[in-house]
Amino acid sequence: MIVLSSTVVAWIVAVLALSMALAQVLARRREADALARMVRVLERMSGGDTHLVTPELPGRLLPLAKAVNLLADRFRKNQVNDHPERVFDQALVRETPNGLMVVDGRGVIRVVNRAARDLLPWTAEPVGQRSVDVLPLTPLADVLREAADTREPAERAARVGTRDLLLRGIPLADGSGTLGVILDITSVVSAERVRREFVATVSHELRTPVTSIVGYAESLADEEIPPSARSLLTPLVRNALRLSRLCEDVLALSRLEARSANLPLEPLELLPLTDELVDGFQDRAAGRDITLTVEGDCGVAQVNADAYLAAVQNLVDNALKYTPTGGHVTVRLSRQDERAVVSVVDDGPGIDPIHHARLFERFYRVDPGRSRDAGGTGLGLALVKHYCQAMGAEVSMTSSVGTGSTFILSFPVE
Ligand code: ADP
Repeated sequence: MIVLSSTVVAWIVAVLALSMALAQVLARRREADALARMVRVLERMSGGDTHLVTPELPGRLLPLAKAVNLLADRFRKNQVNDHPERVFDQALVRETPNGLMVVDGRGVIRVVNRAARDLLPWTAEPVGQRSVDVLPLTPLADVLREAADTREPAERAARVGTRDLLLRGIPLADGSGTLGVILDITSVVSAERVRREFVATVSHELRTPVTSIVGYAESLADEEIPPSARSLLTPLVRNALRLSRLCEDVLALSRLEARSANLPLEPLELLPLTDELVDGFQDRAAGRDITLTVEGDCGVAQVNADAYLAAVQNLVDNALKYTPTGGHVTVRLSRQDERAVVSVVDDGPGIDPIHHARLFERFYRVDPGRSRDAGGTGLGLALVKHYCQAMGAEVSMTSSVGTGSTFILSFPVE
């Protein structure tokens, strides 16, 4: 027979007592958690949420859980009978793959649907909390705040893990709060990237053979060749050059589109940059008896030198292309409302206002035949818009038929 010493017995008793106490503490904590979950279920039910299943609850609370389930079920049936449209509205909110949430006028989160719970990395139950305390994404907090402050919809894109999200803040029409919409646009963004890469690759692949065709055709044009051959060669050179410009423009556009961040800016005096650029166009202007001048000064502005030169070059090129012989093209620099403004003004044919809204779209041309004859690619103004966006600059235009056109770039100075 094994005889236990009194010390060992005392130890066993102490360990048993401790285990029982621990089990009791754990059981109480489980019960407390379960009760808290049940309270949340009842709270959401009182808010009109009818599609609830009470979580399975332990031991003594099981009858209570069953009663809550029964209540939820009855409540849901009553809702369907009494307010079918409300039930369908709730079903829409619940089942839509788009994340939806509502923040009330005091900044407290009132509703978060299932998709919003899945799409965002919440670390705590959000309903009932202040949005500033629990929102897991700064850009979402930004759009909600912006929409609440300005009473205008706000939008930002964000990347969360492997997902691309589009976040919208929309002020509620009755002024009671702000709606947050979270859209998963991962597949759209990736399709867009594939399209961009394809376009960039094709233009890149075309670039080398086209450059070689231009080179050979131009060398041939310098040779003594029969007039009949020259009449074939002239359009060959012109079209090869156009194709080459098209490849360059498409490549430049896809490079600009691929940039997720803005271009690096530096404070630069725009007058010397502009003077040098315009000097390069003087021979071409003189060839068509066009007076090309630079006027005024706008001091220093925040620009990216390459993007600035490319944008102004496109505008001066257009002005010279479309202004008839004997016309005037002026690049005017000025300061307006703390911004540096560069306008390219011509007294050419002007553009009918019906075209203004679409002018900066790719391949939009007022007169396609004339643009092609002038060697245009239809991408110049689209490029100007992208260069400006990448610099945080603005572009606009005014024009009317018969009086000429003015294209205006405006840059921050600070
Ligand atoms: P393109 O290569 O055809 O010039 P752009 O995108 O640069 O393409 O311009 C789009 C269209 O806008 C042109 O086809 C032309 O019809 C019109 N346009 C642009 N600049 C001027 C201008 N200064 N005067 C008249 N029309 C212009």
